[in-house]
Amino acid sequence: MTAEPTAPQNDPAAAVLKRAHALTADYGTAPVKAWKEKNQGGLAIGHMPIYTPRVLLEAIGVLPVAIYGAGDKDIIRGDSYFQSYICHIPRSTIELGLTGMLDSLDGMIFPAICDVIRNLSGMWQMLFPKKWAAYLDLPQNFRPEVGGRFYKLELKRMARELHERGAKALSDEGLRAAIKDENLRRVALDKLAALRSDASWRVPASEAYLVTRAGGAIRAREHAALVEEYVAAANKRSGQPKDNVRVVLVGSFCEQPPFGLIKSLERAGCDIISDDLQLGIDYMEGAIDEKGDPLDALVDAFLHKGKATASRYIGEGRKGAALLDQVKRAKADGVIFAAASFCDPALLDQPMLETACEGAGIPFTSFKYAENTGQFQVIREQAGAFSDAVRLWESAA
Ligand code: SF4
Repeated sequence: MTAEPTAPQNDPAAAVLKRAHALTADYGTAPVKAWKEKNQGGLAIGHMPIYTPRVLLEAIGVLPVAIYGAGDKDIIRGDSYFQSYICHIPRSTIELGLTGMLDSLDGMIFPAICDVIRNLSGMWQMLFPKKWAAYLDLPQNFRPEVGGRFYKLELKRMARELHERGAKALSDEGLRAAIKDENLRRVALDKLAALRSDASWRVPASEAYLVTRAGGAIRAREHAALVEEYVAAANKRSGQPKDNVRVVLVGSFCEQPPFGLIKSLERAGCDIISDDLQLGIDYMEGAIDEKGDPLDALVDAFLHKGKATASRYIGEGRKGAALLDQVKRAKADGVIFAAASFCDPALLDQPMLETACEGAGIPFTSFKYAENTGQFQVIREQAGAFSDAVRLWESAA
């Protein structure tokens, strides 16, 4: 994240946006140092996208820290660890590690989302053997007695290993409190989503992205308060609806697009009213159950409330059904597919999602990016042409 928020000083949301921007500085590790100063001996654990059970970490007093690669930072050493025809995020993450940018972290979690992350996890363990690292196999079988049982054991394993390194022991009480906090965040993010849908001119997607991503290295309760503050401030904005097209932005985003790319889409006349940019923070549909056994509730939420995305098996479900539902709920005019270059999960999913859009008569366009893409003119022109075409299509209908 290199772009500064652009809200003018007298804008009601200027202050909260400034804070959100500060929280994403130094590749998301800026708040980690502050947290560690306040919580002497506390563990901060980094995790790669897309989904990691942050609730579990919070329950044992650990600060979860989302790592999104290095954006447009020059890659000097990270390139030599990977072949050229894969996405950018593993090499930039290695670069961050080798240049000491992640030294404040006490460990890393690599969720099983693709082969690249699996390879990165092995590379990481060889390069940083003294740091704790976990490869988290996420279940792709969603039956409680099979995938659920397995996942529960994985969660207990991670909690136990972190306890051996100084974290609190996993307790029902701690987990219940963390679930409650996560549900507060869920409520706040749902309010943000509703405002984007109802009054998109008050909430540019670039701001919604910044405010959501700002939760990457703070606890859920603190993030919920930040999102609530932003929603309240954005609601105070006056202004009129713009003659823009309403789009859903889909990318199964692991590697993040440059901030400037999101701004370019906005400038091209696209109101991005829904997206999957921040799946790690915004993964669940609905609250985690606060009654009963809390570990079972956490497992159940993953099994039954996780959002459809490329790295998640959908079993008997129909590919694209969730996207069509998202378009319908957001009252969108079209879809923009944006995949990280060489991202196998996203690019293998995309043809099926496009087929679903074609079947439903939903216009779409697509392009690829890398986290260090520096030129957006071509993408802006493509998005502008798409926006014009959708408007013409609607007026002719
Ligand atoms: S961008 Fe795609 S291929 Fe690369 S690590 Fe992420 S999910 Fe895997």
